[in-house]
Amino acid sequence: ATEFVIDGLRATIENKEILKGVNLKIRGGEVHAIMGPNGTGKSTLASAIMGHPKYEVTGGTITLNGEDVLEMEVDERARAGLFLAMQYPSEITGVTNADFLRSAINARRGEGNEISLIKFIRQMEKAMKELEMNPEFMHRYLNEGFSGGEKKRNEILQMMMLEPSIVILDEIDSGLDIDALKIVAAGVNSMRSEDRGFLIITHYQRLLNYIKPDYVHVMMQGRIVKSGGPELAERLEAEGYDWVKEELGIED
Ligand code: ADP
Ligand code: MG
Ligand code: MG
Repeated sequence: ATEFVIDGLRATIENKEILKGVNLKIRGGEVHAIMGPNGTGKSTLASAIMGHPKYEVTGGTITLNGEDVLEMEVDERARAGLFLAMQYPSEITGVTNADFLRSAINARRGEGNEISLIKFIRQMEKAMKELEMNPEFMHRYLNEGFSGGEKKRNEILQMMMLEPSIVILDEIDSGLDIDALKIVAAGVNSMRSEDRGFLIITHYQRLLNYIKPDYVHVMMQGRIVKSGGPELAERLEAEGYDWVKEELGIED
């Protein structure tokens, strides 16, 4: 069974401490949402989990099924089953979407176990159809000239094809109109399973109407300061974050 545990995680960027002791446990089958004001370290948390070189982890541990994630190189983390749909996906000229995905899938499957071209194309076509993506996106350079919404759909396409065990979605709802949001949410929901856990970072409760979380966490000043169920997201949407600060005696 999938178990992903973050314990006392601290991280700095350019010698400034952003994460100040994050604790979080995600089991297979669970959907966790993190909400929080801008600049509190949500994207930093996602990047630190994936091993982005800009962020230096200065304390704490991350394990996936008991294995030390912080010891793994970036590509090993992906192979181990960690996936991040980025807030700002990068454009890569010269590499088509299909090429990129096929090598990512094969890296995850390992040598001698590569996916056949036919099977790959069939799966990609099926996933793209579910996400209502134009088939031409298969042969476009990765994210180049994609609109904000197309980039987000493409991140979900990668998630569906890679079948990760821990999925992190960083503001997947930003820049999506309501129809695209529903399509993206349906893609995510189709991937919910007992052996897969989700961490959904969002500013808006609206997304959580379509992807129902089991747990909602509030992040402030580099820590998870409060956790609850879906009702917590509804209260944050209605009342903002001031009441949380007051309740916990947090100063700006
Ligand atoms: P959130 O995702 O919660 O809005 P971030 O994790 O993106 O917050 O940012 C947390 C803090 O780290 C902010 O103060 C931000 O300015 C700072 N930060 C993030 N990335 C960088 C960077 N590349 N260089 C310098 N500071 C950064
Ligand atoms: Mg932000
Ligand atoms: Mg962010």
